[in-house]
Amino acid sequence: MQIKRLRLTGFKSFVDPADLVIEPGLTGVVGPNGCGKSNLLEALRWTMGENSARSMRGAGMEDVIFAGTATRPPRDFAEVSILLEQDAGEETEVVRRIERGAGSAYRIDGRDVRAKDVQLLFADAATGAHSPALVSQNRIGAVIAAKPADRRAMLEEAAGIAGLHVRRRDAEAR
Ligand code: ATP
Ligand code: MG
Repeated sequence: MQIKRLRLTGFKSFVDPADLVIEPGLTGVVGPNGCGKSNLLEALRWTMGENSARSMRGAGMEDVIFAGTATRPPRDFAEVSILLEQDAGEETEVVRRIERGAGSAYRIDGRDVRAKDVQLLFADAATGAHSPALVSQNRIGAVIAAKPADRRAMLEEAAGIAGLHVRRRDAEAR
């Protein structure tokens, strides 16, 4: 599975629609302090089903919506779209949208789905919201300092085994 395109509207500092094409291979994000590099990674994680406001560096989930600046009024929604190419070659679009006072919703190829459906889609591909494939500034140290058991969990995720664990937990809960 490969991420081909990321589209953001009203997400954190990305108030105007932004469209990023992601080429195959390793992608690095560079730019001056405060330009939105971490916000981009957070947009990916958020759309993959991240539901912890803290890991989005906010107090509440609505803090991902553009909050306004001295010259721009706040927005009342944020929307992020990830275009994926699955291993078989077909494309899938995953969209997450949040509106003030109305919560967030997910769509896969235009159909309304549960958070769980999106989380499973990405868990199977070892690219989920907590994937070691997404390395943010503060996680580089964590990988190096991790206890053996935690590092094993990271390796399992990188190897694509973690999706099986999610499915097993899901099956056991039924
Ligand atoms: P650094 O190099 O310091 O790590 P960075 O490129 O990772 O910087 P980010 O942390 O992604 O930068 O972006 C920070 C900017 O995003 C700040 O200017 C902050 O005000 C802005 N920002 C964060 N949340 C919102 C929001 N909800 N509305 C508007 N702006 C926001
Ligand atoms: Mg940063």
